[in-house]
Amino acid sequence: VELLQRFHQAEVPQISIIDMKDERKKRRVRQHYYSDLLLKELIQTKERGKQAIIFQNRRGYSPYLECEECGWVPGCVNCDVKLTYHKTFNKLVCHYCGYSISIPGKCKECKMPALKIKGIGTERIEDELPMFVPGLRMARMDLDTTRTKNKIEKLFESIENKEIDVLVGTQMVTKGLDFENIELIGIIDADTMLNFPDFRSNERSFQLFTQVSGRAGRRNHQGLVMIQTSQPKHPVLMFLLQNDYKGFVQWQLEERKKFNYPPFVRIVKIELKNKDLSQVREISKKLAFELRKIKSMEVLGPQAPIIGKIQNYYIMELWLKLNRNNDALKQRDEVYATIHRFFSVPELRYFKWSADVDPM
Ligand SMILES: [Zn+2]
Ligand SMILES: [Zn+2]
Repeated sequence: VELLQRFHQAEVPQISIIDMKDERKKRRVRQHYYSDLLLKELIQTKERGKQAIIFQNRRGYSPYLECEECGWVPGCVNCDVKLTYHKTFNKLVCHYCGYSISIPGKCKECKMPALKIKGIGTERIEDELPMFVPGLRMARMDLDTTRTKNKIEKLFESIENKEIDVLVGTQMVTKGLDFENIELIGIIDADTMLNFPDFRSNERSFQLFTQVSGRAGRRNHQGLVMIQTSQPKHPVLMFLLQNDYKGFVQWQLEERKKFNYPPFVRIVKIELKNKDLSQVREISKKLAFELRKIKSMEVLGPQAPIIGKIQNYYIMELWLKLNRNNDALKQRDEVYATIHRFFSVPELRYFKWSADVDPM
């Protein structure tokens, strides 16, 4: 099955799961994100002259500002997203349309100077970790620091020459990095990935955690992987702990069969966009009604996606679950014919829509 082929049996580092809820209760966590267990291990790794990778995939959960008095969060004027805090430019930036503002001095709602940075991204980790591990030399690997080939080469050189102790990065650090001297991997916040609302989030998490674990020195010694989470019993982590990728795949297939997801069905995502919210709602409802006439096909929605507005366009989605049996092609053609018929009436000829088969 396709799931099976995506994972390769990885080498086996020791995996340690840190229960962050429990650690926080016992006051053994600094700044909400750094457990004493991980910090202690970082210090020891550094003292042995070894190196570490700290992994934080901040996708969708980047650092943002929030008013501690009233909860106000600065958002984009064009999109339905929080603005992301960029320390280097001292600005709040929208990652979807590029809109940016300088950091406001006080809350727009309650006028209190109570804005605090929330959430955690690689840049913040790079800034904060040396507070708890004196003399720690850090480098960062993410989109912002690897724009040129020259920069990447310099980064690799500094790791190779042991000029840095810790490399902090996004999923860029999960692949292809092969440095003998790296013995410790820290996953700062497994929850942001495990909780991502998508039926593939378990598969993605397992894959990324497995890949990043594989970065812990694999030739002459056993590396250590520390995973910080508030869900220490999460099935993904249990399978990871037992290095049981076959068990993981089997569990995923059972889940997907139960909830009727790929590979048991094909998914077609239809996206409708309009600057008028009520219009996009109405049109997508009508389209859903037409599509539901197709036999033995499940239609989910319409619903707004996680980010419901981008560059002033409101978005609605329909998810179709198509058969995988002999009728699959016939059913798909019926779907396309229905959509084209629907949008070919004069008043909808310029309506923005798109269809995506097996969307990633
Ligand atoms: Zn406020
Ligand atoms: Zn925007």
